[in-house]
Amino acid sequence: MKIIDAHFHFADFPGFNELAIAAGHENTAEHLEKEYKRLGIICGIVMGNKTLSLEGHHYPSFMRYCIGLDRFAIEEDHERQLSLVEAHLKRSDCVGLKLYPGYNHFYVYDKKMDPFFALAAKYHKPVAIHTGLTATNDALLKYSHPFTLDEAAVRHPDVQLVMCHIGNPLLESAIAVLEKNQNVAVDLSGLLEGRIGDMDRFLKENHWYIDTLKGWLVYLHAWDRVLFGTDWPLPNLDEYITLTKAIVPEPYWENVFWKNAARIYHLEQFID
Ligand SMILES: [Zn+2]
Repeated sequence: MKIIDAHFHFADFPGFNELAIAAGHENTAEHLEKEYKRLGIICGIVMGNKTLSLEGHHYPSFMRYCIGLDRFAIEEDHERQLSLVEAHLKRSDCVGLKLYPGYNHFYVYDKKMDPFFALAAKYHKPVAIHTGLTATNDALLKYSHPFTLDEAAVRHPDVQLVMCHIGNPLLESAIAVLEKNQNVAVDLSGLLEGRIGDMDRFLKENHWYIDTLKGWLVYLHAWDRVLFGTDWPLPNLDEYITLTKAIVPEPYWENVFWKNAARIYHLEQFID
């Protein structure tokens, strides 16, 4: 089975090298390409960070990217910011836009975000949105609550949204938003960090959480809208595949591990 990693990060952020090492990897394109090949991962989608400059987003051929409006990439000049985002969305290897509410203090359904959704609609590219827990203390969960995507989905019915991290751990709210709004897909990234080692033991110890997540996804029954993603460099890739297989019933593996990402992010070149 081939795999598409629909959510990972590839930047020279402080701490990324250490995170990769803690997960049993190296934060280099060469290492990632080798590991992807070994695991049958044919493509990874970078969730963009740090900058909106066009020069700052060139990636190896096995990667695509979403241009990311993280807290380092927000610019004072709104018009300039919009024109840079549009220049990215015009590129074929830029497959979407990534928003980081929570880290950024705004609601995704705020009127000031409308022009960004309009650009996503114009170029038929999805908007991936961080939801749920954040990694920094100055972030605010009220902005990353999965319910914020309900109003965004209603305001922008012609835009495909991707709810990153399934709002973890706010699973019940996330499922309600997904059940109600057909234009919201979800990626299962960011649920592991570091190297676990004994995965059998980990799955046993965390069976309540894994059964709960699996139970909600079975209840939702929207296997054409669930995407595999790792949030590399956070987890060990082998272990993340094992975890995802424990969450997703086997009949839906092809959908979740690559078909849905290929369709939603328009990666036609990877469809047979
Ligand atoms: Zn991420």
